[in-house]
Amino acid sequence: MPETTLSAASAAPSPLAPEWLGIPADLNRLAPALWAHDAERGPSGGLTLAGLAVGEIKTRFGSPVFVLSESDFRARARAFKQSFDTAFADVCGGVDVYYAGKSFLCTAVAAWVREEGLRLDTASGGELAVAQRAGTPGELIGLHGNNKSDAEIRRALDYGVGRIIVDSLDELERVARIAADRGTDTPGSAPDGSEAPRAKVMLRLTPGVHAHTHEFIATAHEDQKFGLSMAPGTASPGFSGAGAEGAPEGAASMAEEAVAAAAGHDSIELLGVHCHIGSQIFEPEGFEAAAVKLLRFVADMRSSYGVALPELDLGGGYGIAYVPGDTPRPPAEIAEALAGVVRETCAELGITAPRISIEPGRAIVGSTTFTLYEVGTIKDVVVDVPVGDLPASGEAVTAVRRYVSVDGGMSDNPRPVLYDADYSVVLANRTSDAPAQLVRVVGKHCESGDIVVRDAYLPADVRAGDLLAVPGTGAYCWALSSNYNYLARPGVLAVRDGDARWIVRPETEDDLLSRDMGV
Ligand SMILES: *Cc1c(COP(=O)(O)O)cnc(C)c1O
Repeated sequence: MPETTLSAASAAPSPLAPEWLGIPADLNRLAPALWAHDAERGPSGGLTLAGLAVGEIKTRFGSPVFVLSESDFRARARAFKQSFDTAFADVCGGVDVYYAGKSFLCTAVAAWVREEGLRLDTASGGELAVAQRAGTPGELIGLHGNNKSDAEIRRALDYGVGRIIVDSLDELERVARIAADRGTDTPGSAPDGSEAPRAKVMLRLTPGVHAHTHEFIATAHEDQKFGLSMAPGTASPGFSGAGAEGAPEGAASMAEEAVAAAAGHDSIELLGVHCHIGSQIFEPEGFEAAAVKLLRFVADMRSSYGVALPELDLGGGYGIAYVPGDTPRPPAEIAEALAGVVRETCAELGITAPRISIEPGRAIVGSTTFTLYEVGTIKDVVVDVPVGDLPASGEAVTAVRRYVSVDGGMSDNPRPVLYDADYSVVLANRTSDAPAQLVRVVGKHCESGDIVVRDAYLPADVRAGDLLAVPGTGAYCWALSSNYNYLARPGVLAVRDGDARWIVRPETEDDLLSRDMGV
C-alpha cells in the first residue's frame, strides 16, 4: 500500500492534533487567560515574570522549577473576596472566602491568604500543621476530610479551629465525644463536660448535584465517598425523622438525621451545612442548583426541628483556563449569578439568608504559576494516523509526532496522567519565527504515560538547551508531586518586583536519602 508521511513542520494542522487545538497565529504570544498578569515577553524576547527573565531564573535557581507570581496570587485572592463581598453585600453582609490549601499550601501562602482577608481550608492534620506554623488563627481555619483521625480532631479542637466540616454520622459522634472528653479533662470544668468549649461543626451534604466544566448532572443518589446524603430514605433504619407533612414513613435523609443528632449534643455547636459539587467548573448553574437545594434544607430543618443553620458553605471548584479554548466565567460573574439565586430563594422560603462561605483553590493559585523546564532529547516518531481520520482515498497515512523531553515530568505534574488534563506550553528563553510543529512534551520517567503536555504547537526549531514554560501549574501539581524514580521534587520560587525567593526550596539528593535507614 502506498504511504504518505506528512512533513514534520508545516503550516497545515497535523492530523495527529486534537480537534480543539488550532495552530496559534503567533507561537510566541502568551495567551493572557493562561498566565499570571505580570508574565510577558521581555525586550530580548524571553519570558519574564514580574520583570525577572527565565534565563536568569534558570541560571540562579536551576530547573525544573515552579515559578509563582506573588502579586498575581494576592490579586486573585483579593478579587475573589471583593467580588463575592460586593455581590452578597445585601444578601448576607458579605462572604467568607476559605482558600483551599490542598491546591497548594506552604507557610508563605498561608500568610498571603490571611493578609488578603481570606480564611484557610485544610484537609488533614498535616495541612493544619502548616497553618499553625504560619500562625493562622484557629478561628479562621476549616478542617475537612472524610476520615479524620481522633488525633486530627483533637488537634483541631485544641487549636480552636473555626469549623470542622463533618463528613459522616460516625464522625459526628466522634467529634461530639472527643469535645465532651476534652471538657472533662480540663481542670475546673464540669464533670459532665458541659463547660467544655463546644466543637464548631458544619455538616457536609451531598445535594446530588455534580458539576464539571460545562455541565452539571443532578441525581438523587451520589456514588462517592464524601458527605451526608440528602436523598429521602437514606437515614439509618432506626431514625424516623420529623415526618415533614405528607412525607411517607422512612423518607428521612441521612442529612436530616445528622442535623437532629448534632442538635442533641451539648458538645457541638452546629454552624450550618456545606457542599462541594466538583472541580474545574466553568458555569454558575451547578452552584446555583446546589445552593437552592441546601437553602430548602435549611428552611426544612428550621420548620421541622426548630434548628437554625446560620451558615452555608458552597465549596470550591471554580475553573481556570489551561488551554486557549477554555473559557471559565470570571468569579465576579459567578458571584453575581449566585447572589441573585440565594436572594430569591431565601425570599421565596421566607428565611433570612445564611452567612455564605466559599472555598476556591485552583482559581486562586492555578494561573499564578508556570513550570520552567529545560529541553533535552528530541525524537521524531512516525505514527499511523488513526483510522477514521484517513483521507477519502483510503491510503494509509503516517505522520510525525515530535517528542520533546524535559527535565521533569509526571513527578512534578501528575495531572495529565491522573485526569487526562491538557496543558499548553511556550518556548520561553527566546522567540522564534520557525513554522509550527506539533509536539508532545514528555518527562524523563520510566513510564510511557509520562506526559507533560499531550498536544501543543511549538516552533519547529526548539532544541536541546531551550527552556519551555507550562502555565497553569499552580494548583494540584506541587501538591501532588512525588519522588518517582528518585527525582528530587522541584521548589516553588515566588517572584515579585523583579526578584525571587524560594517559598519551598527544591529537594536535594540528601533529602532523597534522608529517610533511608541504611544497610
Ligand atoms: C478540593 C476542594 C476544594 C477546592 O477545589 P478547587 O477546585 O481547587 O476550587 C474546596 N472544598 C472542598 C471540600 C474540596 O474538597
